[in-house]
Amino acid sequence: MKRSKLDGREFDVIVCGGGSAGVAAACAAAKAGARTALLERLGFCGGTPVAGMIHTLDAVLSCEDTSQIVVGGYASDLVDEITRMGGRGTDDNPGEVLSLHPEYMKIAADRLLARAGVQTFYHSAVFDAMMDGTRVTGVEVALRDGRAQLRSGCVVDGTGDAEVANFAGVKWAMDEELQALTYHFRLGNVASGVTWVDLEDGCRTAMQAAGDHVRYGGPWVIRLTNQEVSINATRVYGNPIDPSDLSAAEQEARESMLVIYEILRQGVEALREAYIIAGATQLHVRESRKIAGEYVLTEEDILARRRFPDVIALGAWPIDIHPTNGYVGVHPHKDSPPKPYEIPYRCLVPLEVDQLLVAGRPISTTHRAHGSTRVPGTSMATGHAAGLAAALSVRSGVTARRVDTRKLQDELLRQGAILSLDQTVTQ
Ligand SMILES: Cc1cc2nc3c(=O)[nH]c(=O)nc-3n(C[C@H](O)[C@H](O)[C@H](O)COP(=O)(O)OP(=O)(O)OC[C@H]3O[C@@H](n4cnc5c(N)ncnc54)[C@H](O)[C@@H]3O)c2cc1C
Repeated sequence: MKRSKLDGREFDVIVCGGGSAGVAAACAAAKAGARTALLERLGFCGGTPVAGMIHTLDAVLSCEDTSQIVVGGYASDLVDEITRMGGRGTDDNPGEVLSLHPEYMKIAADRLLARAGVQTFYHSAVFDAMMDGTRVTGVEVALRDGRAQLRSGCVVDGTGDAEVANFAGVKWAMDEELQALTYHFRLGNVASGVTWVDLEDGCRTAMQAAGDHVRYGGPWVIRLTNQEVSINATRVYGNPIDPSDLSAAEQEARESMLVIYEILRQGVEALREAYIIAGATQLHVRESRKIAGEYVLTEEDILARRRFPDVIALGAWPIDIHPTNGYVGVHPHKDSPPKPYEIPYRCLVPLEVDQLLVAGRPISTTHRAHGSTRVPGTSMATGHAAGLAAALSVRSGVTARRVDTRKLQDELLRQGAILSLDQTVTQ
């Protein structure tokens, strides 16, 4: 395969994947002075909330008290930028989710990356890790003009599926009972004058009447504008890291979208004239690999709000697991909203492999704890910490595993992160 003109380039920090975790990591590393590259296989950043048409950022606000912000730093910068651009969704949504317009999310991420001084490479799929023994020294990436070996002092894996960790030989686990895969879609021309609550209730009733409510989830409805909603209802099952399974699941999910659209159109008065604006760029994955890290966060840690000396992020979402056997209903946190809890740095540090940090969905947790940590707000918080730790590792010459976590916490706080259960701020 032809070599890219960038072949052999060296950076202090390379971040793979431009989702919630990856963009936060890249901005943090660059702000700390590291020469930082971000590699994203799509043509825009934002990851699942944008490409998956989820349109919301859960766990930036506390579910218990939705006026409390629990993730600062990059998350705050992003929300502020989108708000300034006029890209916030309507207020007619559940209070604990932040609803943001996906096109504004893309542009806001571009602006924040440029401001921080990150070199962003779109259409760049990472396909291998470069190794010197157990130390990651860079990545191999397919760029638009050919393949390239890009070298770096530290790599952050923000791919959502721990792809780089897998290439590097990091041990990982995947639960036998994986959460459902979902293909979101957007409907336009929704009748005006209907509240979000009435709309969501109407959709549920229509699905139940059609007898398909067990097969599909929710439906969960997010209102983007008065006439436009995003529907989270398709549910397909399969192994998201098996090429054949995932392809079959993509096809099944698109067919499901049509079935659900017809049920909703016929069963919900306000959707009678609605049409499909678009389906997501791809089927999205709630759960795949989880790395084996220096510490494995558990449900007990979350519920007991265990304190960690190396806390680098706060989580705030309930243990939200979309089961494999189908159910309809509301999220569990509606009954028992969780209090913010601490996540230690060690969850980002893989066992045995050096100069690689993993952020976002695949951090080291149990299946139950992952039901809470997997959401974008928390992914931004762990990404922020991973990017800064990578920069500190390169700057100080110590391995990422041995980074001084006190120093890391100080710098995180300087960059606006929220690390203490008592430090949460009000919006
Ligand atoms: C179906 C579904 C519904 C959800 N519903 C909600 C919801 O309602 N509200 C909510 O807040 N959260 C929801 N979530 C959770 C949330 O969106 C994600 O879990 C979260 O965004 C994970 O962030 P991340 O940064 O780890 O990964 P992602 O956002 O997935 O980002 C990973 C990025 O890495 C890129 N990438 C992957 N592999 C490579 C590679 N080899 N080379 C280069 N780039 C690569 C991808 O293109 C992507 O941009 C949902 C998730 C799913 C799947």
